[in-house]
Amino acid sequence: MPTRLLVTGGAGFIGSHYVRSLLSGSATPDGVQVTVLDKLTYAGNRANLAPVEGHAGLRFVRGDICDPDLVGELVKDADQIVHFAAESHVDRSIAGGDEFVRTNVLGTQTLLSAALRSGVERFVQVSTDEVYGSIAEGSWPEGHPLAPNSPYAASKAASDLVALSYHRTHGLDVRVTRCSNNYGPYQFPEKVIPLFVTRLLTGGRVPLYGDGSQIREWLHVDDHVRGVELVRTAGAPGEVYHLGGGTELTNRELTGLLLRACGADWDRVERVTDRLGHDRRYALDWSKSRDRLGYHPRRDFTEGLAATVAWYREHPEWWGAPDG
Ligand code: NAD
Repeated sequence: MPTRLLVTGGAGFIGSHYVRSLLSGSATPDGVQVTVLDKLTYAGNRANLAPVEGHAGLRFVRGDICDPDLVGELVKDADQIVHFAAESHVDRSIAGGDEFVRTNVLGTQTLLSAALRSGVERFVQVSTDEVYGSIAEGSWPEGHPLAPNSPYAASKAASDLVALSYHRTHGLDVRVTRCSNNYGPYQFPEKVIPLFVTRLLTGGRVPLYGDGSQIREWLHVDDHVRGVELVRTAGAPGEVYHLGGGTELTNRELTGLLLRACGADWDRVERVTDRLGHDRRYALDWSKSRDRLGYHPRRDFTEGLAATVAWYREHPEWWGAPDG
């Protein structure tokens, strides 16, 4: 019998990549049957699943993870849950946190409660390095105290803690992954890389926050979803796993690389007021995932970024380019 996976947020950037990698290239996926539950917010897009649309191993359900009746029904048919669905954009959470607390906290609680009732065997909570706040030097190990700064990060930290409480209190097999910034194709053009690329390709200007000295670690979405799959299949209940090992860059350095990749100059960059509460640096210690799961990022950043820019160039219809 194949394992029946309920994948929330499977029409978003990372969730759809996970589903495509599970299903593409095999008529009978590696022992899994996937049900995607996605609300199709502005960030979700059915077209992200086009490469696997019609696959015998895929079912798509449009719906809200905060809907207990729908979630209760779907969970009855699931052996395991891989939970990507979230409001995920920091700037939107600064403009208003309501939807972030609703989806990220209440939605996660709704899934966990249904999982427990139905005897789901495993729950993978996909989370972020942003729950730790900001770190000037070194890197965070998994046990580091959470100190989120943005409403987005706070809502993810809260949902991680609720998820882990279901393990400690009820014995539910919950595993948490925390990953650094992802890049790759199919990312909605509000996050920095697709925003800059799509604006540069259409002759526009790009906004650089403050002095651009904030540091982020960039990991290709391929590496993230491989890490999530390792945690699902080889991780241990109640454990948190860091998925890092990407390339550290200041936002200014990243901007320079994107300008070069799109054949544009610095005169296309507009300095804008820094983001409120902008974290300076994130950095994960991912040695536990390496040592216990054999996790290791494989995509080279230079090649991965060039492939990502090429993808946006070749898919103007996906991001709504004026002539796409
Ligand atoms: P995304 O915004 O691209 O996709 C989110 C998906 O969730 C969308 O398809 C959306 O329609 C769906 N969704 C939102 N609210 C929903 C609801 N109430 N019910 C059902 N579906 C809903 O996000 P992403 O970048 O793919 O991130 C996926 C997960 O990975 C998130 O949990 C995020 O916190 C985490 N993460 C992201 C990054 C990153 O760099 N993007 C890094 C680390 C962790």
